[in-house]
Amino acid sequence: MEQTEEKMEIDDVIHITDYTFEIDLIDKMFPRAKFVIAIDIEELDDVVTERTNIVIKNTYDCYCYAGVNKIADYFYISGERITNKFIINKLIEQGLSLNCNHCFIEGFDKESDCQFGICTGS
Ligand SMILES: [Zn+2]
Repeated sequence: MEQTEEKMEIDDVIHITDYTFEIDLIDKMFPRAKFVIAIDIEELDDVVTERTNIVIKNTYDCYCYAGVNKIADYFYISGERITNKFIINKLIEQGLSLNCNHCFIEGFDKESDCQFGICTGS
């Protein structure tokens, strides 16, 4: 009988941290998101701007798109109270999808009075 070299590595301790719990919770809050939300759960309700109309610009200028001339996407957000959560829901609605190594949204960067960029990490 042939012996298989298959090794099973079993972690004797499974660490369930607050962090993974938080990621799960965020996943459940935004089940249709085609990107990963890496914003602290307490910051989701933070008001990003006092304005009621903003533009979120998504540039594809990371190394994944090096040599590819991908035009920036613009997402128009309007609402009475523009929070991180509000923007995320609008981006999902408008079909934002991050497919490269930088699919983690860490926040929104103010670029001008009414334009914000997406702060991404991997
Ligand atoms: Zn990338």
